[in-house]
Amino acid sequence: MFNLVLFGPPGSGKGTQSENIVNTYNLQHISTGDLLRDEVSRHTPLGTEAKKYMDQGLLVPDEVVIGMISGKIDDTPDARGFVFDGFPRTRPQAEALDKLLEFKQTQIHLVLALDVPEPELVKRLLGRGATSGRSDDNEEIIAKRIKEYHSKTQPVADYYNEHGKLENIVGDHSIPDTFKTLTKHINKYLLPVT
Ligand code: AMP
Repeated sequence: MFNLVLFGPPGSGKGTQSENIVNTYNLQHISTGDLLRDEVSRHTPLGTEAKKYMDQGLLVPDEVVIGMISGKIDDTPDARGFVFDGFPRTRPQAEALDKLLEFKQTQIHLVLALDVPEPELVKRLLGRGATSGRSDDNEEIIAKRIKEYHSKTQPVADYYNEHGKLENIVGDHSIPDTFKTLTKHINKYLLPVT
């Protein structure tokens, strides 16, 4: 099994590059943002709780997200591996993920962190907001999401760096160029299937 965390601030291209990676290496994509939006659209109790935070650009509490991810990993026991996108976003989430994977006798092998300058992030997110229909892609909420990233999510990079798993990637090149850089790192662990 090969497990990858695609790390980076909102708008750094995690979703786009995750799609490229899962298709090329036949991995399972786990995006907590997508899973939460699905819960919200189905009006589940979890979705109703999560929406309060998402609408304000705040992180959803750890226990809600960790419970959700655990079930998702169990859904595909034969997976070649997972690409975690938008998770973990706090140090307790990173520690919980390590425990979950250890229980399955596996681990996070690699963390690729997409580095994009802040003005470019805001530009991309506002552009996406015009078409995505996402209520959190507006100027006020984007600022809050980036603030949450700096205070709560950035320490996750330090956590993985301490474990020797972090690689920083320049994330403001073209989508194909950035993907090529990502594959150079992944190919050390796993061969493409396409
Ligand atoms: P994303 O699609 O990854 O940008 O996530 C959208 C929103 O969902 C975030 O602003 C958070 O409110 C929530 N969210 C997604 N993933 C997580 C996570 N791992 N921990 C806490 N909140 C999350």
